[in-house]
Amino acid sequence: MSSATDTTETPVDVRAQAVDALPPAAAYIAGTYRTGSGGHHTHRDPATGEELRSWSLSGPGEVDDAVGAAIPAQREWQGLEPGQRRDALLALAETVAAHAQTLAALVSLEMGMPLRASEAGVLAAVDWFRHYAGYADKIEGAVPAVGSPSRTLDYTRYAPYGVVAAIIPWNGPAMALALKVAPALAAGNAVVLKPSELAPFSSLYFGSLVTIAGLPNGLVNVVAGGAEVGARLCANPAVAMISFTGGSVGGRAVAEAAAARHVPTVLELGGKSASLVFPDCNVDRTAKLAAILGVAQNSGQGCFLPTRLLAQRSIYERTVEAVVAAAAKFRLGSPFDPGTTMGPVVDERARERILDTIAAAERRGDGRLVHGGRRATGGGLAGGNFIEPTIFADVDPASPLARDEVFGPVLAIIAFDDEADAVEIANGTSFGLAGYIWTSDLGRAHRLADALQAGYVSVNGMAALPAAAPFGGWKASGHGVEGGRHGLEEYLRIKNVHVQW
Ligand code: NAD
Repeated sequence: MSSATDTTETPVDVRAQAVDALPPAAAYIAGTYRTGSGGHHTHRDPATGEELRSWSLSGPGEVDDAVGAAIPAQREWQGLEPGQRRDALLALAETVAAHAQTLAALVSLEMGMPLRASEAGVLAAVDWFRHYAGYADKIEGAVPAVGSPSRTLDYTRYAPYGVVAAIIPWNGPAMALALKVAPALAAGNAVVLKPSELAPFSSLYFGSLVTIAGLPNGLVNVVAGGAEVGARLCANPAVAMISFTGGSVGGRAVAEAAAARHVPTVLELGGKSASLVFPDCNVDRTAKLAAILGVAQNSGQGCFLPTRLLAQRSIYERTVEAVVAAAAKFRLGSPFDPGTTMGPVVDERARERILDTIAAAERRGDGRLVHGGRRATGGGLAGGNFIEPTIFADVDPASPLARDEVFGPVLAIIAFDDEADAVEIANGTSFGLAGYIWTSDLGRAHRLADALQAGYVSVNGMAALPAAAPFGGWKASGHGVEGGRHGLEEYLRIKNVHVQW
């Protein structure tokens, strides 16, 4: 992949290539694009407001046909030898790698993520496919100690569910699809992938890569659309397992739909994760990183980003100053400009919702606005959905700003007295996705890692979803995991076979 700073491709070229690569229709079923029969949607470039597509999203007919096409494809897939599935998944990984530049550019075009971050996400997605390809021929059961070995054999074996629904959000679509499709296929399932209507293009393009890689037609079908398309998919009797990533409201609806049919789910939901900053870390460096991770990274539109910064009182003022100084240097701009550190938020609705959230927090006095807080329109940004990096200090830990997910470039800074106070504040939301500890005291790091109610804890850094490690939420952040062996097992059911003679 050429990097965004290559001189051979100007930023304009990359964007133009992405426009040329826009998929023609909102459904990809059994190896071909199909015009959607669902609701009309106009997709605008979040950075410019320019219309990219005005089209019909997938409708009920496409959803049903996608599931119908997946059924025979899954049988064919399951009938292959494990090594054949491994090789096919490796071929898919290499096909995605060969088309990484286009896939990354489509992500940046559809939802505004700076190209360098999109590229990193696509390369990580390739790694997830390679990782799970390696599991395809290593799925093995056990022989539990049951009965006399001279008269009995008891063994376990794993089976795929069949057709799996993978419902993903718009905020990092290439990664999100890999986190689900890679383990689901490695386990022997077929997948109907439902991307958000706000970021449909990369998933549809990915569907065509599955065909290019030579996997059976219908093994991965893509139906782009809104919540109603997801709901239709969840209700289809042939969908035997649902993996959902999204917000709490959608997650609850999916859980209810799944419960009605006794179908298992993985739910990866929202978060309000905290960075805990202690005086024994490199405070200035940490504050800068906290500003990048909590505000600039994907413009705050990330489930596990640390959108609360908790600093001990002795370093509190210094931390606030350093965060503001770092945020003042962020450069808002086109996702295709290599100098951009912060792109737009996903659409006009998100922009207005975030600005309303900021205004409400100010009105209520949830905290003291120390940086940003407005829409950014200068320097050619007026057509896009840009919001200034926004920092609130002295935030009341009990306030909505400290407890609710904003999903925008808004950081809440809170002072704490000691470890116990920090833990109480960090755990004081309904969420439990991630926690970040910044300290040079090893004992403190492990104590706090144990005390934080979160499925993912990072000390002095962030690993950004490696394929080999389980990632998942506690509490209202969901249940089930993605990554590693545990992530594979979400897509397998176990059978015990007891034989007597
Ligand atoms: P969302 O819940 O609105 O939508 C997510 C997906 O679910 C979309 O494809 C949507 O169309 C679909 N959907 C919504 N309601 C549905 C329903 N009733 N039935 C079936 N499908 C339905 O979320 P979003 O705005 O796309 O994404 C942002 C949210 O996702 C944030 O809350 C963020 O924290 C969360 N998220 C979580 C993780 C994680 O791994 N925990 C990762 C990324 C994003």
